[in-house]
Amino acid sequence: MAKTIRKRDKWYFLTLGAKWDRAVVPIYEAAARGKCVPLLKTLLTSFCKNDCKYCAFRAERKVLRTTWEPKKLAEITIHLWKQGKIRGLFLSSSISKDPDFIMEKQLEVVEHLRNMGYNGYIHLRIMPGANRSYIKQAVRLADRVGVNLEAPNKETFGEICPDKGGFKEAILKRLYWIIDEVKSVRKESKDFRFGFAKAGIDTQMIVGATEDDDFQFIRATEWLYRKLGLRRVYYSGFEPIPQTPLEKRKPCPPWREYRLYQASFLIRDYGFKAEHFKQIVNDKGFLPNFDPKLVFAQLHPELFPIDLNTATFNEILRVPHIGPINARKIINYRKMKPIRFISDLERALGPLLARRILPYVQVRDKRLSDFKTYINQKIL
Ligand code: SF4
Repeated sequence: MAKTIRKRDKWYFLTLGAKWDRAVVPIYEAAARGKCVPLLKTLLTSFCKNDCKYCAFRAERKVLRTTWEPKKLAEITIHLWKQGKIRGLFLSSSISKDPDFIMEKQLEVVEHLRNMGYNGYIHLRIMPGANRSYIKQAVRLADRVGVNLEAPNKETFGEICPDKGGFKEAILKRLYWIIDEVKSVRKESKDFRFGFAKAGIDTQMIVGATEDDDFQFIRATEWLYRKLGLRRVYYSGFEPIPQTPLEKRKPCPPWREYRLYQASFLIRDYGFKAEHFKQIVNDKGFLPNFDPKLVFAQLHPELFPIDLNTATFNEILRVPHIGPINARKIINYRKMKPIRFISDLERALGPLLARRILPYVQVRDKRLSDFKTYINQKIL
């Protein structure tokens, strides 16, 4: 039996077993395609020989540390997965010895799982400086793999991670190897149900631990999505941890992380370029606390209103509040019949969203006046 012992934000903890064989496992409620997916998210070990300046598990810090025995972690994962309490495992680690030792142990967990018939989701963090043979294995066994960039450039990476290895050698080289391995496994087999990095490659950067401005994160994000083809760039807002060199630094406000995510989705899914954000950030390179797509639309009145019956998918995507799903709804609706009245738009998108996009859209034919009248009567 697994018992929930406490819940905090997106985390909760399950206690398993009894007295002599008790384990507490951290469950993280990850968001995937609009759904909440519980993952057992843990470090293989929290013992670390490194001293990254922001980290709770840096070597110099006095903190309770533990290490999973690989077989035990695999057994707990499969047990919870069979019970339906988790949908997958997200495994990362501190670096207690050399990176290859950790990779070997992480892969032991994953191999145990796959050998026991586990075909759930596995997200594996590659250790900076890991040997290519481990990366090759990881890509075959896990559904998503990635290595953390931590910072958007080598200078600030060196500032906060002084002993993780060089940015180019320990991080970027590994990222390129992951990309190569993913390409080669995709050529081998298209018929994979799990593993083979089918959920792509990801990375994470810490926001607010350095002086990097938002535009630097946005530029790095564009490169990661467009040039390297990553599936996901995560941002982790910095929080000062006592007994670390950055304990007096201000935390990253949650809205900064949120606006960066919005900007990154505009780049990944909406065809925005980093250049577009030059007009949105302030003179210090930071995003305002507003939806960046809305700010862009207000800075570019010449792009609006767009004609709902003739606009391309990408043009519709430029409309504030419209994402790929709703852009497709508009296109599907107009395939059946032209959009002429606000009631058409309400049927396509629902009344709330239809009202929100009115300032940015128009319809082409002579009934436009009716459309406007309708707006005037019903909304304004
Ligand atoms: S290597 Fe990882 S766990 Fe160790 S101090 Fe750096 S960030 Fe923390």
